[in-house]
Amino acid sequence: MSDNPYSTPILAWYETNARDLPWRRPDASPWSILVSEIMLQQTPVVRVLPAWEAWMERWPTPAHLAKEPSGEAVRMWNRLGYPRRALRLHACAVAITEEYDGEVPDDHTTLLSLPGIGAYTAAAVASFAYGQRHAILDTNVRRVLARAETGIEYPPKTQTKVETALAESLLPALPSVAARWGVAVMELGALVCTARAPRCADCPIAGQCAWRLAGRPAYDGPPRRGQTYAGTDRQVRGKLLAVLRDSMEPVAKPALDAVWDDHVQRERALDALIDDGLVDPLDDGRFALPG
Ligand code: SF4
Repeated sequence: MSDNPYSTPILAWYETNARDLPWRRPDASPWSILVSEIMLQQTPVVRVLPAWEAWMERWPTPAHLAKEPSGEAVRMWNRLGYPRRALRLHACAVAITEEYDGEVPDDHTTLLSLPGIGAYTAAAVASFAYGQRHAILDTNVRRVLARAETGIEYPPKTQTKVETALAESLLPALPSVAARWGVAVMELGALVCTARAPRCADCPIAGQCAWRLAGRPAYDGPPRRGQTYAGTDRQVRGKLLAVLRDSMEPVAKPALDAVWDDHVQRERALDALIDDGLVDPLDDGRFALPG
């Protein structure tokens, strides 16, 4: 049983404030929910929406994607960032097709055994696709719980056992309510209890929030990671991959060399893409997306 003082106000808030997102509709397939969860891990909803729609139109089931080369998944991933997720999603589609008759498994342990599916995604798919009772801890949920319950502005850098235990202790008993609670807290973190400017005046649990009641004390933990992108290897990898995505043919090296002046950084980025399996170096010296 859970003793959760936040569930009634947050569930009521969600009822009227939730965004109407296609992967949350009652007719959303487990596969479409799985795809949305992988895309949303490191990319905001506004950028995920069109990519998810295009993806689902082209590959409405795992079997559709599994039939194609993994490079097509990387091409479709376009500019969502962190493109290894495309390869993992492809590997996942192959495993679901070959081992589970093309149906996304509903069992948490089986989900966790699929390529590229971690604890969060397994719990999210089991909850949102199959209405099961699992603690969902993404960055939004962790931030809301850190503030409301622990009284600190930001959660620790990496998830702790204490956070997991707290999330589990707050889970409503009824599976369908627990699943709704999970998505509702996520939504509150995304729309109201945001990282930089929480809108406490609009928050349904403002009267219960330990951090707010303490006068919103300033964060005094370890420095938090910035979002710098310009000039990083990640930016160079993105530019190299864009050349390959935009070409239906393998690409000669000079076309890749043209996208970044710093030779050492460019080669390092290309090596990393090859190591990650995102780029295939062909025998004739050209480069392609994986086959
Ligand atoms: S009161 Fe403010 S800090 Fe506390 S949960 Fe609500 S939005 Fe977040």
